[in-house]
Amino acid sequence: MNTPKVIHWFRQDLRLSDNPALFEAAKNSSILPIYILDDINSKELAMGEASRFWLHHSLNSLNKSLDQNLSIYSGDPITVILDIIDRLDIKEIFWNRCYEPWRINRDTHIKKELESKGIKVNTLNGSLLWEPWTIKKGDGTPYKVFTPYFRKGCLLSDEPRKPISTPINLDLFNDNNSLKDINALSLLPSTKWDIKMKSFWNIGELGANNRLTEFLNNGVENYKEGRNIPSKPFVSRLSPHLHFGEISPNQAWHAAQKKGDDNNIDHFCSELGWREFSYTQLYFNPELPKKNLQPKFDLFPWDKDEKKLIAWQKGQTGIPMVDAGMRELWLTGAMHNRVRMVVGSFLVKNLLLHWHHGERWFWDCLVDADLASNSASWQWIAGCGADAAPYFRIFNPVTQGQKFDSDGEYIRKYIPEISELPNKYLFNPWEAPQEELDRAGVVIGKDYPNPIIDLKLSRQNALEAFKTLKKVDD
Ligand code: FAD
Repeated sequence: MNTPKVIHWFRQDLRLSDNPALFEAAKNSSILPIYILDDINSKELAMGEASRFWLHHSLNSLNKSLDQNLSIYSGDPITVILDIIDRLDIKEIFWNRCYEPWRINRDTHIKKELESKGIKVNTLNGSLLWEPWTIKKGDGTPYKVFTPYFRKGCLLSDEPRKPISTPINLDLFNDNNSLKDINALSLLPSTKWDIKMKSFWNIGELGANNRLTEFLNNGVENYKEGRNIPSKPFVSRLSPHLHFGEISPNQAWHAAQKKGDDNNIDHFCSELGWREFSYTQLYFNPELPKKNLQPKFDLFPWDKDEKKLIAWQKGQTGIPMVDAGMRELWLTGAMHNRVRMVVGSFLVKNLLLHWHHGERWFWDCLVDADLASNSASWQWIAGCGADAAPYFRIFNPVTQGQKFDSDGEYIRKYIPEISELPNKYLFNPWEAPQEELDRAGVVIGKDYPNPIIDLKLSRQNALEAFKTLKKVDD
């Protein structure tokens, strides 16, 4: 009897190990591995530039692992898949589930359409430790606060699935109608900013696994405290690998758990829990990327100053901790979590610019841009999300710098023009006496901008604006 031919549709699971759908597909079948770039159903949520850069390299790496058998397409997946199954006489398809609302809608439609044509559709979980609908409160509603969600909901439910191995002797075939190669998807930018960015990462499944090993050997032991210090290598930097599925959260979770019972490990696992919580929020609030979870924020008197927005985007606000973060993002495609909170708070609270501007800029620039984590985090920062930072919690970028970058290493790395300033004025150069500025060779307003806003005054303005919301509550 001929081996049945099936499709494995790679989406956000660009790996061979611990890939439940691929593992199932490989049982007694010959597999056509496919990737479809779908810029049609995503509409305004199409991947940003930095994500496309990452995807290009991730697909190349996957294709190499598949002995160049990945068939590649661009277009509406339903049209592409119907065409493939017709031409190649395929009766079964496998994929790992995705959770963004537009993907859920698309996949539901595709599943229905394929099943109506007698095609067997197998969907599995390859991206989450706990799928959103499996963790609910006693009354059947979803959790809205992280700690009970994680401690009571997740940790008291089933342990996350143990990783499964890479299928051995994959029997693969390809499609002659595939695009010629990954370059045909035109994912790389026309101006070559990506070359420098690539030097910061090791993209692909092997790189992801090496990153996890390196972090567990030389990082996690300082995680709980060290994760707040942006100049130190005490965070995993796994987020883009997790987003594209080059590694599964199960692999990260269980590898960390194997290191033993320790506060640092627990804390790392709880951060993986924040990723799960973001997905839960998005699943139960499909409008999370656009709509304030707390409707009273719909009336918030946002400012509309485009010049300030551009200064923020370019890392030219004159506030070093903010500028260092925005420049790290521009250069590397990532930003340390502590600094994401500082720059986010500065945008929405000091500049009073709508969190959508931050969410969109991050979407375009982050290599880990993730609809769930990005939208949930921006809503958290703005104070309008579930379990959000209270609106009046306004990060002071000067004291944040003094506390978490006390030796100034992070700021000096990204803002060389002020690197000769002593630590005392590194976080607030506008307050440096003239002789210190002269000694450091800095002319404020020429070498480095004057602050675009008065931190104290803008804080007061934010609190005033917040009072208008309190009136809505009363
Ligand atoms: P680690 O500290 O090593 O944590 C391990 C993993 O846990 C991360 O890789 C990530 O998958 C998850 N994680 C950690 N913190 C969070 C968190 N607060 N929320 C959700 N998951 C978390 N993360 C993204 O993956 N994509 C985004 O688009 C994104 N946008 C953000 C926007 C803002 C304004 C803020 C404040 C945070 C955002 N985050 C986002 C969350 C967090 O900053 C990153 O996940 C983290 O910095 C990634 O670095 P790491 O892999 O070294 O994290």
